[in-house]
Formats: sequence, structure tokens, C-alpha cells
Amino acid sequence: MSTPDRYSVLFEPVKIGPVTAPNRFYQVPHCNSLGYMRPKAEAAMRKVKAQGGWGVICTQEVEIHPSSDLSPFPEGRLWDDRDIPGLAMMVDGVHEHGSLAGIELAHNGCHAMNHMTRATALAPSDMALHNPHPRQARAMDKEDIRDLRRWHRDAVRRSLTAGFDIVYVYAGHHMTTAHHFMLPEYNQRMDEYGGSLENRVRLTRELLEDTLEICDGKAGVAFRFAVDEMMGEDGMQAHEEGRAVVELLAELPDLWDVNVAGWDNDSQTTRFEPQDGYQMPYVDFVKSVTTKPVVGTGRLTSPDVMAGLINKGTLDFIGAARPSIADPFIPLKIKEDRIDEIRECIGCNICVSCDNLSIPIRCTQNPTMGEEWRRGWHPEEIAGKGKEEAALVIGAGPAGLECAMQLARRGYHVTLAEAGPEAGGRVLRESGLPGLSAWKRVADYRMHDLQQRANVDLYFDSELDPEQVIELGIPNVFVATGSTWRADGRGRATMHGVPIADGAEVFTPDDIMAGKMPGTGPVLVYDDDQGYLAAVLAEHLAQAGFEVVFVTPASVVSPFTDHTLEQGRVQARLIELGVEIIPTHVLSEIGTESIRLACDYSDRPRNIPARAAVLVTERHRTIGLYEALKASEHGFNHLALVGDAEAPGMIVDAVWHGHLAAREFERDPSLSNADWFRRETTDLREET
Ligand code: ADP
Ligand code: SF4
Repeated sequence: MSTPDRYSVLFEPVKIGPVTAPNRFYQVPHCNSLGYMRPKAEAAMRKVKAQGGWGVICTQEVEIHPSSDLSPFPEGRLWDDRDIPGLAMMVDGVHEHGSLAGIELAHNGCHAMNHMTRATALAPSDMALHNPHPRQARAMDKEDIRDLRRWHRDAVRRSLTAGFDIVYVYAGHHMTTAHHFMLPEYNQRMDEYGGSLENRVRLTRELLEDTLEICDGKAGVAFRFAVDEMMGEDGMQAHEEGRAVVELLAELPDLWDVNVAGWDNDSQTTRFEPQDGYQMPYVDFVKSVTTKPVVGTGRLTSPDVMAGLINKGTLDFIGAARPSIADPFIPLKIKEDRIDEIRECIGCNICVSCDNLSIPIRCTQNPTMGEEWRRGWHPEEIAGKGKEEAALVIGAGPAGLECAMQLARRGYHVTLAEAGPEAGGRVLRESGLPGLSAWKRVADYRMHDLQQRANVDLYFDSELDPEQVIELGIPNVFVATGSTWRADGRGRATMHGVPIADGAEVFTPDDIMAGKMPGTGPVLVYDDDQGYLAAVLAEHLAQAGFEVVFVTPASVVSPFTDHTLEQGRVQARLIELGVEIIPTHVLSEIGTESIRLACDYSDRPRNIPARAAVLVTERHRTIGLYEALKASEHGFNHLALVGDAEAPGMIVDAVWHGHLAAREFERDPSLSNADWFRRETTDLREET
């Protein structure tokens, strides 16, 4: 298939100093918690993206020195020569597919806690560590600055030895020493590195000049810079000092990689920033100041938007982190005119949460992300079927849809039966709530795929009972019937449940999502799930005009959303909506006129005059059908429980489990568990 004319601009080669990118698709540096701890996994993940057509593939931030130790987060590491082979492995994989490999060198200064090395943290001025830890960073003297430049030069040399084509100087996300020097709130120096903007930019200029000198035509030099701190007048703003920095350094780097700071602003979720390309108003001036190529990001997935940005002269490269995670094959799909096969990022930041949790990257939309090496999964390829011919999947939630789609790709004849009138299960329900509409893409992408296939039969309004399943005569059955929220209050903090008075108005999240509403307020939303859902429901109820009280045993609203970089916005939104927030309290009793709480620390009781409660605690697995089938005399060849019915979790877990079920079906029995799930183990050879 040939590339549509309107997209051909995206496939033009672009020079980055002495090297040339084969096209305009640029995977900007992004974290993934594989890094120095799991270099084979990182290499395999990046290689798949090169295969998918990204012209440039970058590492995540790579620590250049033990005083930039981000432990326990496994980012990239290039402290000395021993770190070269792990990174070279990634370069080789990227080069195999004709793409360029970029490395983002980072000295993290007061952002690094140096937990492992116990090195003194360094900053422009004496100050508390950037992360909440009761230690301080020391102001760098001139010798420290000379050391930093030497460490950076050494890291550039090692990057060239590893084979990188693009080497970064990084001043962004509030995460690096170069950035800290630029910003007055970090830099209160009185010497030639502080005060005026020119002085504050001096270290960055020196790092760029050093890097250019060492690269010397062997690699391009990229500069990653946050043009706006998104703090209004309290910080650097794109069209003021941000622009002045670009003017000062305009022609120095070979490429400008521009975004906004901090990470929570750079990687906004669709819940709080639904607009794709949302960073363009901040970075669109850059090309008018420099003749060097410019890359920008902002969840860019639409080929029309991409081509428009190039044609309008806003960008030279389409930068992507999350879109390339959700679909490593976007470039190839555009090139081959397979646009409707693009698996669009839903902007949920589960990928980000993995880095914050120091666990290998995963993605809601792309269950193979992070599994390329350890399980040998590929986003576009799956083994053909074995000797079985047909499979029945029951339930079209995220787990059932993914399972059915992968089984169909393997070549089985798939029957998918869903009780409701529409596909999507929990995704359909949750995407009706405020800010979550983009999550429906999880179902839309899979439904579109299934509808194209001749070997798939889809049945809606078809709630199957055990007899019907047996009557269908399909010997392989995957039960993905999901789960329902409990109404008895049992949860982490209330393991015995909660007394509920007769006549008390109690709702589950399923009730609210089905459109049921309390008769009157105030409504108490109790969150012992501590994920995202309870706060979204509180928002929904407040928008519907109810007086809402939000109670949680946690110390903040929706603590999990800290990992997705949303917690501050979640709590702020409830405050803006007038929701009363009561943290560190557990539910004691639900009456008809009031609800009793207890302080989680002191047990001190507290009465809330609420007339209705929404309980967001635990879920019941919907397993009646599965258990009946298992107990029946009917001999199925394969009977599996999949997704939330197996263990309720997040949407990412359901999709992944559906994928796993499809891959494991008729798995080669000769594969050992070690083959099936590889680990990168510690090398016990004598240290040299
Ligand atoms: P998961 O996240 O594991 O995919 P969901 O709760 O999102 O779980 O989806 C489960 C789906 O299964 C729902 O759409 C529900 O309507 C459907 N379902 C439940 N029981 C049956 C049944 N007996 N027959 C057909 N579909 C069912
Ligand atoms: Fe996008 Fe969510 Fe996947 Fe991250 S986890 S790439 S935000 S779909």
C-alpha cells in the first residue's frame, strides 16, 4: 500500500547536524523503568519502535555520574565504561532498522536523592532536595562546575563509543542541573553563573559547546529545553524568558527538543488536558528563532494533525513518547495507509505510573509494551493457531475484547458474546464519567479490528447461561465476565464490612455509572479503592448539583493518581467544585439521616449529616457462569477465566490478562517457564 500524498511530508529525511533522520517521526526520550537494571528489555523495546518506523529513537534520561543517582528508579546509567555495552545493545537494535539512536545525558543535581551512592547532592545554591527527603543539596563551587563539565564530556565520549547518533544536553522537567541553573528559584548565585539570564544560561552554553566539540561531526547535538514552567509569572514563561533562552542559544545545538515543565505538565492526561497537541501554543515560536530543526510533543497521534504541524512550519519532527508506547508502529501504519489500525494512546499515564513505581513499563492500550524481551511479545505479531479451530469468548469488556482480537489474529474462529447491547464493559461505563471519554478508545480500537475479520462472530444482547454455552458446542471457552462493585462497605480499612441501617440510601459505582442518582444530598463518597474512580464519581455528583463529602482512609484524595502525575489536579478539582474532603477517616456506620466515621488514627467518631453513600471499596468477581461450566460434566478442551473476573484490577490489567490468555492458549508445551518469562539476573562474576 502506498503512502497517501497528504502524509508524504512526514516521510522526508531531515538533517540533524552531521546525521540524517530517515523521516520526521521522533521518539523523544521517555522513562520506562527498564534502564540499567533491564538493558536487554530496554533494547528490545526500542528496537520494536525502530521496526515500527520511528526515524529517531532516544533513551530515557541517562545518569552521567554517581552524584546523579536516581535510585531506586532504574533509569539509564553511564557512570563509566562498564555501562557502555548495555546502551550499545539498544543502539544496535535501533540501527538494524535504519533509525537514529539518541541518548539523553542527565546530571540530576538536587533532583537526585543519591540513595545508593550516598554522594552529596549538588545544586546551584544550598537548598532542600527536590524530592521529599529530609536532606539538602550543596551549592556547587567553581571546581564542582568544572567537574560537572568533565563528567558530561566523559559521558559524551562514552555515548559515541556506544554508537549513538544524537547526544543530548538536557535542561527540562526541573530535573537537571542545567535547568536548575537557569531558574532563579533554584539559582541564587552572585557569580557569573547567577543573576542575569545570560549568566544563568552559561552552564548550559558550556555543556553544549563541550558536547559539540567532542561530537565533532560524529553525532548531532540535541538540546532538550522546557520553554515554560507553567507557573505563570512565578516561573519561566514561553514567550518571555523561555524565548530569550532560545534566542541566546538559537544556532548552537543541531536540534531543539522543546516542551514544558514539570513532567506533570509535559505529560498531561486526557482527564485534565483532552486536546492532542496541547503544547503547541508554548513551543510554536521556536522555529521562528532558530534555523535548526525543532521537535515538539503533546500526545500527537493523528496523522492529519502531524502533517499540519509540518506544513504550517510549527515543527520539523513529530515528537512522541506516549503515542509511540501505545502504538510503536504508527509511522509504518501511516506509510502503508493503514491509518485506521493505529492504536491511539488514551492519555491515562499508566505508563508513567510504572516509572514512578520502579516497575517495568506497561501500557493500557499496548499490552506488549515492556514484554518484548522477557516474554517475546510483539505488538503486531502473534503465533498462528495450534490444532484447535474455534474459541468462545464471553464478555466484551477490555479483557474479552483483547482476548478475542488476539485469538482471531492467531487464526481461530472466534465467537464473542456480550450480555449488553454494546462492547466495552467497564471501559464503556467509565468513559461516560467526567474527563474519561478518551478511555473508550480501548474498546473502539478492538471493535474496529474485530469487525474487519471474517473469522469473528459478534453477538450482543446475549447473556449466556451454562446450558447455552454447552449448546454452542465450542470446545474452548474464555470467560471474561468482569466484576461488580460491592455494596456492603467491605474494603482494605473495613474488612468486616459496615453496618447499614434499613432504608439507608447506598449506591455502588456501577449504580452511578448506570445513571442512578441519590434522591437528595448531601452524598458521601467513600473511597477505600484509592485509585481514580471515587474522585471522578464525586466530580460527577458535584456537577449534577449534589453537595458531596469525600471520605478516605488515605491522607490525600486518590493517592494512586500521584503515580499518574494527576493527584494535585484531582484534589484541586474537588476543592474547586466545593466538595468537602475528609482524609484519614474510615466508615463506621451508614444511617438514614447521617453517616458515622472514625478517625483512622485515634478512632475518634465523627457524624456527617449525609443522606446517601457511594461506596468505592472492593469488587465481586462475576464468576457464576465460570464455576457452573467448571462443575459441569461437559468436557471443554480449554476453560479459562480472564480479566477482572480472574482478579479485579485496572483497565491495563484486564487488557494485559486478555492478551496473556490468548498467547498462552495452545502454548508450545516444550517452553519452560524460564523461556516464557525471562529475567535479567545479577552477574556474579568477580568485579574488575
Ligand atoms: P474486564 O475488565 O475483565 O474486561 P468488564 O466488567 O469490563 O471486565 O467486562 C465484562 C463484560 O462481560 C461486561 O460487558 C458484561 O456485560 C459481560 N458479561 C458478564 N456476564 C456475561 C454473560 N453471562 N454472558 C455474556 N456477557 C457477560
Ligand atoms: Fe497512552 Fe495510557 Fe499507554 Fe501511556 S499507558 S501510552 S498514556 S494509553
